[in-house]
Amino acid sequence: KQTIEMIMHQRRGRRLVLFPLPLQGHINPMLQLANILHTHGFSITIIHTNFNSPNPSNHPHFTFHFIPENLSESEASTDDLLALVALLNTRCEEPFHDCLAKLCSSDSEEEPVACLISDAILPFTQAVAEKLKLPRIVLRTGGASSFLVFAAFPLLRERGYLPIQDSKLEEPVVEIPPLKVKDLPVINTSDPQTLHQVVDGMVDGAKASSGLIWNTFEDLEQPSLDTLGQKFPIPIFPMGPFHKIFTASSSSSSGLLKQEDQSCISWLDKLATTAPKSVIYVSFGSIAAISEAEFLEIAWGLANSNQPFLWVVRPGLLTRRGGSDWLELLPSGFLEKLGGRGHIVKWAPQQEVLAHPSVGAFWTHNGWNSTLESICEGVPMICMPCFTDQRVNARYVSDVWRVGLQLENGIERGEIEKTIRRLMVEREGKEIRERILCLKEKAILSLKEGGSSYESINSLVTHILLLES
Ligand code: UDP
Repeated sequence: KQTIEMIMHQRRGRRLVLFPLPLQGHINPMLQLANILHTHGFSITIIHTNFNSPNPSNHPHFTFHFIPENLSESEASTDDLLALVALLNTRCEEPFHDCLAKLCSSDSEEEPVACLISDAILPFTQAVAEKLKLPRIVLRTGGASSFLVFAAFPLLRERGYLPIQDSKLEEPVVEIPPLKVKDLPVINTSDPQTLHQVVDGMVDGAKASSGLIWNTFEDLEQPSLDTLGQKFPIPIFPMGPFHKIFTASSSSSSGLLKQEDQSCISWLDKLATTAPKSVIYVSFGSIAAISEAEFLEIAWGLANSNQPFLWVVRPGLLTRRGGSDWLELLPSGFLEKLGGRGHIVKWAPQQEVLAHPSVGAFWTHNGWNSTLESICEGVPMICMPCFTDQRVNARYVSDVWRVGLQLENGIERGEIEKTIRRLMVEREGKEIRERILCLKEKAILSLKEGGSSYESINSLVTHILLLES
């Protein structure tokens, strides 16, 4: 009779097939996870759509297979994120099945496949894996707390919170404190049915899987992780923050299209001794879009704040408008008049920026990666969530962990100036900074030998090696 040790020994070096949702905030953590598992002895195969594909030459130790997702040019756009996600879940099914079947077939020359690891938002992969008798483990790239809110969608519908009514935005969701109705993780859509299908699909797919991996750490989300453990009868592995285990700057590590502008680091360097922790770093991630009016209020709020700022204005940050490109909308001579106090780039090396001694605050849309990266560098946040889980993350940042302030009353220059002052000048800001530095320490500790994430990675490795495929 074979012992567990013997089985684990025989299975070392087995292949894992990973399939990310092809969006920056999902590809990066999946590739980080791939690197973590690679260092634990697994061979790695990445299946990826042609859409948004990373550059394989940046990952010579992985094998890549690209599948045609058959999206037209207009469909392959994040303008309608929900439609894109729904389409990916149908159009990828056949090519993904064919690719995975080949990898699992007995005439494949590669190592036997131990399991599939796919993004929670690609639930169609659960049925494909079951058909091929391959266990599927899920990576959820968002937080555990927001996932619980997604899991509560049927209840929220039943109790009348969803669909959201504008007249109730400020009311509490009594079943999920401290959320208010406006924090519920929805996205503006004319098609609420598709939203609910995608969300319910994600939750059911996760429940049916062989395990759930989280880019989070116990000390950050303990109560939510406990609840998940009770509600989801499968093993869960909170083993983040990934980017601190596998450090490589985000977009260059995935080889995606966006070029990081390094000029901002030399600009930050100049302030490091004269004005440490003074710069507000402003970035809303890779997808969120704002209106022209909001763009101008942000510009004037920053200008009037008297703090130095580094602002990422991604081409495409402004909601579709004919013609306007990049900084055209700014009043003429805007930056010049500030005498070097402001710097604007199209894309920044964000982790490097947040770790820079000149940076004192992060004005963020609270994407989960940005939120974690800010916590890991101990940088207090100004929260401006746009949609889905960003809203829940922002409420946790401001009201649960109390490591940031929300722009609660809209994007308006006076409000912005006041919030920046509260965070950068007033006593309240000092306390917020102390709290986030404490969380930063906990994040680092979780990854050290004996720490919760460190142990969770080891459990995951054992779990995978003992899976029956
Ligand atoms: N990012 C970056 N440079 C920028 C803005 C963002 O490298 O100028 C990275 C950031 O470090 C994070 C990712 O892009 O890892 C954004 O992920 P997040 O979950 O915060 O937001 P999303 O883009 O998915 O909305």
